Amino acid sequence: AWFGNQPVAEADKARRVHDVFKSVAGRYDLMNDVMSGGLHRLWKSSLIDSLNPRAGMHLLDVAGGTGDIAFRFLKGAGDLKGAGGQGHVTILDINDAMLGVGRQRAEKLGIKGRMDWLCGDAQHLPLPDQTVDAYTIAFGIRNVTRIDEALSEAYRVLKYGGHFLCLEFCPHLALPLLDRLYARYSDAMIPRFGQWLADDAPSYRYLVESIRRFPDPLTFEAMCGRAGFSKLSHRLLSGGVCAIHSGWKL
Ligand code: SAM
Repeated sequence: AWFGNQPVAEADKARRVHDVFKSVAGRYDLMNDVMSGGLHRLWKSSLIDSLNPRAGMHLLDVAGGTGDIAFRFLKGAGDLKGAGGQGHVTILDINDAMLGVGRQRAEKLGIKGRMDWLCGDAQHLPLPDQTVDAYTIAFGIRNVTRIDEALSEAYRVLKYGGHFLCLEFCPHLALPLLDRLYARYSDAMIPRFGQWLADDAPSYRYLVESIRRFPDPLTFEAMCGRAGFSKLSHRLLSGGVCAIHSGWKL
């Protein structure tokens, strides 16, 4: 069965993802802090560290949500090097509610002119070929229905010499015992936090399921290779809770 030009199962996933992030947008930043015990801040800083922002760089941050990666890119975090005030970031997300929260944050921080907020789909980027120096996607790719299409699009819009970086949860931790504890924490606590703080347990149950269904780091790396990326590598963070994947368009 088909819905528009998508099979029904895919359309269902896309609609579900949309509803989840529309529902949690206002509480999204708080929830990230609570559920990861603040660790998401370190993971995101590591991503910026790998990106090594430089003046004049144009970054496309896909599934950019409320702008966490974009703000870190522009300002630098802690002792990390910032983009020297001359960087430019395009934040693309499929969900207007998430982008709306991000825009308000930018206004509060007084950032003008160096950010574009774009509503669009990672699978069909509304950008010409070879336009950006770097592409990041943090905790976004597992929500995309057709990951291969998103990777091909990332490759298309990057300039030659451009850097692709993806931060994503891993389905399993490196140590089996820790993995079992982590699975218990995820099943028991994450939907409960979702209920308490966002009045929405099902969205957070979806979050746990989507992490378990995501390919392991080596499988994902092979997918990036098929999309055309070279010099692929990945780095596990926090015992394999998540990984930063790096690739180049050469
Ligand atoms: N990158 C942000 C961060 O790390 O805080 C937000 C991550 S949030 C878990 C996932 C985001 O992916 C949501 O804002 C959602 O709207 C977006 N998203 C889901 N499917 C998408 C798609 N096909 N194209 C673009 N964005 C998408």
